[in-house]
Amino acid sequence: MRKKIVAGNWKMNTLLKDGMELAGAVEKLAQDKESDAIVIIAPPYTHLSKVRELISSVKLSAQDCASEDSGAYTGDVSPAMLVSAGVEYVILGHSERRSYYKEGNELLNRKLKLALSQGLKPIYCCGEVLEERESGKLYDVIREQLVAGLKALSMEQIGKVVIAYEPVWAIGTGVVATPGQAQEMHRFIRDIVAEIFDARVAEDMTILYGGSCKPSNAKELFANPDVDGGLIGGAALKAEDFLAIVNSF
Ligand code: PEP
Repeated sequence: MRKKIVAGNWKMNTLLKDGMELAGAVEKLAQDKESDAIVIIAPPYTHLSKVRELISSVKLSAQDCASEDSGAYTGDVSPAMLVSAGVEYVILGHSERRSYYKEGNELLNRKLKLALSQGLKPIYCCGEVLEERESGKLYDVIREQLVAGLKALSMEQIGKVVIAYEPVWAIGTGVVATPGQAQEMHRFIRDIVAEIFDARVAEDMTILYGGSCKPSNAKELFANPDVDGGLIGGAALKAEDFLAIVNSF
């Protein structure tokens, strides 16, 4: 069964006290939510264990993880460490990690495999930049992100992966994909997943839309048959806006 998910990516925002307040407010509103969507929040690493203690209806995600298990990797946080802090999901391949930290599909594939082996559920992001859309290269770019990023996952592993389609030109810009553009790309992604794995895996896969999703446009986006929810940046920093998006289903 395909799950509906709305996940909030807080990025590098909120100090610990503000983050705890925000998590508490999201939890409170989520307890009375009007939709059956799973609600996930992804605060910064420093907040994870404290936030864990505040939430029960809401699930916890990290924004990234290391590609190695343990050892001399200064600054990194391993999937096992995240699990030990009560984390259930991990965002991988966000366009900011791909662009600022030069994370490529091969590295992301290693992260995915390690995260899955430790029991985390990855939210794997893909998406094209504006120039790739305008030149028609977007299909090749997305295909490569999926083929290389999801390489050699077992059927059991792929069943635990959530994909987020995030056109880079829509992230944090206020320019949102039209419902038609989102549906077209989500269908394309589902077809590629069917090609790499099989049709059942593809039909069951949750594919989220991300990029300037707000309470005012979420309903139209989520009405598409292949859009199973959203990965929300800016609007996830206000509990009321975030829950209004959740309740758009
Ligand atoms: C994101 O960073 O994943 C995102 C979707 O950001 P925003 O909603 O702010 O565009």
